[in-house]
Amino acid sequence: MKSMWVEDDAKRYIERYAQHGVNADIALRVYTSRLLGRDPALVLHGGGNTSVKTQVNDPMGRPTDVLCVKGSGWDMADIEPAGLPAVRLAPLLELRGLPKLSDEDMVNIQRCNLLDSSAPNPSVETLLHAFLPHKFIDHTHAIAVLSVSDQPDGAALCDQLYGKRMGRVPYIMPGFRLAKKAAEVYEADPTVEGLILEKHGIFTFGDSAREAYERMIAHVSTAEARLQKNRKPVFVPAQLPARVATAAEIAPILRGLLAAGGGQRMILEFRTNPAILNYVNGREVERYSQVGVVTPDHNIRTKNWPAVLPAPDATDLGAFRTGAAAAIERFTARYRAYFATHNQRQDPPKVELDAVPRVVLVPGVGLFGVGASASAAKIAADIAENTVQTITDAEAIGRYECASEADLFDLEYWSLEQAKLGKGKEARLARRVVVVTGGASGIGRATAAAFKQEGAEVAILDLPGESLTAAAKALKCLGVPCDVTDPKAAKTAFAAVAQALGGVDIVVSNAGRAWQGKIGTVDEQVLRDSFELNFYGHQRVAQAAVDIFAKQGFGGVLLFNASKQAVNPGPDFGPYGLPKAAVLSLMRQYAIDHGPQGVRSNAVNADRIRSGLLTDAMIANRSQARGVSEKTYMSGNLLEKEVTAEDVAQAFVSLALADKTTGAILTVDGGNIAAALR
Ligand code: ZN
Repeated sequence: MKSMWVEDDAKRYIERYAQHGVNADIALRVYTSRLLGRDPALVLHGGGNTSVKTQVNDPMGRPTDVLCVKGSGWDMADIEPAGLPAVRLAPLLELRGLPKLSDEDMVNIQRCNLLDSSAPNPSVETLLHAFLPHKFIDHTHAIAVLSVSDQPDGAALCDQLYGKRMGRVPYIMPGFRLAKKAAEVYEADPTVEGLILEKHGIFTFGDSAREAYERMIAHVSTAEARLQKNRKPVFVPAQLPARVATAAEIAPILRGLLAAGGGQRMILEFRTNPAILNYVNGREVERYSQVGVVTPDHNIRTKNWPAVLPAPDATDLGAFRTGAAAAIERFTARYRAYFATHNQRQDPPKVELDAVPRVVLVPGVGLFGVGASASAAKIAADIAENTVQTITDAEAIGRYECASEADLFDLEYWSLEQAKLGKGKEARLARRVVVVTGGASGIGRATAAAFKQEGAEVAILDLPGESLTAAAKALKCLGVPCDVTDPKAAKTAFAAVAQALGGVDIVVSNAGRAWQGKIGTVDEQVLRDSFELNFYGHQRVAQAAVDIFAKQGFGGVLLFNASKQAVNPGPDFGPYGLPKAAVLSLMRQYAIDHGPQGVRSNAVNADRIRSGLLTDAMIANRSQARGVSEKTYMSGNLLEKEVTAEDVAQAFVSLALADKTTGAILTVDGGNIAAALR
């Protein structure tokens, strides 16, 4: 591990933050916190913390000694001074004299001594930082240190490795008791450069930001070097089926099983690489993967252990489903038993969290992170990848072991840890995966944005190119290239969505384009081209979707963008209206044939939309062709109101939410009796 300290960068931080009235100590604290936070080998997603002891003015303008320590909810990778709330130091130091201190009192006292009442809660490890005298203190969960410490003889290994340079603190849950113990270990030998917290992580300290940071790099490098010596080969691979199924094939099956028994739907994030495969394919994966998390606070994101599924034989997915269901049931039973056992000593008793795994290992395939949102699933997957490396290295030099199950339970159910996750009411379409075809522009793009707004995970499918990439980036959606006139493209695109997010819940089949021609003389090729996109495109998309719905087993929603042409044909619009009329029948056919599996199928009949699809020139042409003024065309409806792409998008959202509605057509045109359904 190399130091990333750059003297010029450090100076720039000091100058930049000075302009905002931030002192040099805090500017440098921001700088090295980011250096630590950006290396996944050191910390992940809000893990770890840093502090600096400095002076700032209190609200009365008096210079005051404070501890600026990482605030809960901030990630070191992009921390700002606001993420390092200033706490008056003297009252924190006084606490050390207490024989004990409850978590609630600790949090309260820390908050009462903030200089800014709106600051975030100081880290749960604030008192540890306060009780050590050093100006700069860095704390990480470096994976190399964990690989060495997470061993039955981890303490002896650390002593051998670090000698007198580092103090060693036995495992104690974060909070007041750990803070006191760490200070005692330091005071027993004040020459140490830091502390190894057994089965938890590492602290380093120094008089300057650079010294504390460089010591972190040096001591983690020592552990890394140790892991390269006397390695034994890991792991012996198990036998795999001749043809292993792909992640895209099994993800919807897994997603269905995770929600089995009335559970909530989850979003999945798939990962694979040679290191992951080496780990999940190991003959003993059921042993080393089930020991527990590499550092305790990971279990609020991943639970203590992953579920391990059987290797999926591509020629017998039915057998995989049976085996996977049994594996998930075993996980659930084990989690419930773990809760029951450790909840016995809780007073008051804790409320059991859901028993759904957050990490799933699949031999031959890779691993899945599982979460209520794509971002939670990604965090679980990042931690799981980190765990793969930590445990692989631990097993290469010995045998992996972590903190006790009781200790892990205390952390998982610690109110201060649960508070980090934040609990709000979920958005209406949270945990739903929505696919919008033709999603890069116009109605499709507005629809993707509307579903995003409702909390859904959205994938937009459109022709490959710049506009798809730009729309996906702007909407923070998954962008998947797909030409629905290519018979194989829809299946491939839906497989990509299933691999990226786990499955599909709602499909807005929107891609379309208008062809014109007088029906008595139009070239047959024009009609065929229009049917290819405006009918077969919808059929291919719907077919790919119901295949995934069937694997998941919890139904699904098909939404078609029909057109006024399907109901109320306009002159010379036959090539467009005919396939759109067929789409209305298609919608009803899906409602009939797939209703028994819980699939709802509905359509929106939209007309006179002002959107990116219709340029002003096109509108002028159309209205000329009809002999009406432009204004009449846009708002010549009963309500005399302009209809926008956003209005159509809201109609799709309404139909997605209408749980008891299928085979219906929702009209969005401001009122046009000639196009009213009868
Ligand atoms: Zn920690």
